Amino acid sequence: MSNLSSSSTGSTGPRGRGRVVGVPTRCWCGEGIVALISKSDPNPCRRYFRCGFAAKNRLRNDDHVFKWVDEALINEIDTLTAKHGEIEKELKELRRERLEFEKMVCEKVEMNMEKELNEKVEEALSQAKRSNKKMMIVVVLGCMIMIGFSKLVG
Ligand SMILES: [Zn+2]
Repeated sequence: MSNLSSSSTGSTGPRGRGRVVGVPTRCWCGEGIVALISKSDPNPCRRYFRCGFAAKNRLRNDDHVFKWVDEALINEIDTLTAKHGEIEKELKELRRERLEFEKMVCEKVEMNMEKELNEKVEEALSQAKRSNKKMMIVVVLGCMIMIGFSKLVG
């Protein structure tokens, strides 16, 4: 991947020891970072991050942290965009895996359900047959009793 921030190397200003990528949090000297506004002619009102020690002592041409805020933010955005792309790729991969898994589970469940359904239907059928027989016996017995009664009455 190409370094997009290399396009801004033409800007003036003292360079920190080793370029900081993104928003600096601490200078190499241990001092915290402050955000200031440039009053220089080439960069009027441009905001920058500066080593607190260097800012306090108004150091010039030193190697304490100096970084334009806009450049730092662009760095951050670049990093985030790269990360975002990676996450998106991972998410897609996960989503695909999940879909495959769900499909597998679904097929399995369907298979099981079909089996279970068949078993249940067979069970219900055999039960119905059994109860039908019982019903027939009850009906036949009832008829016989009825006939017996009617004979007795008649
Ligand atoms: Zn410093």
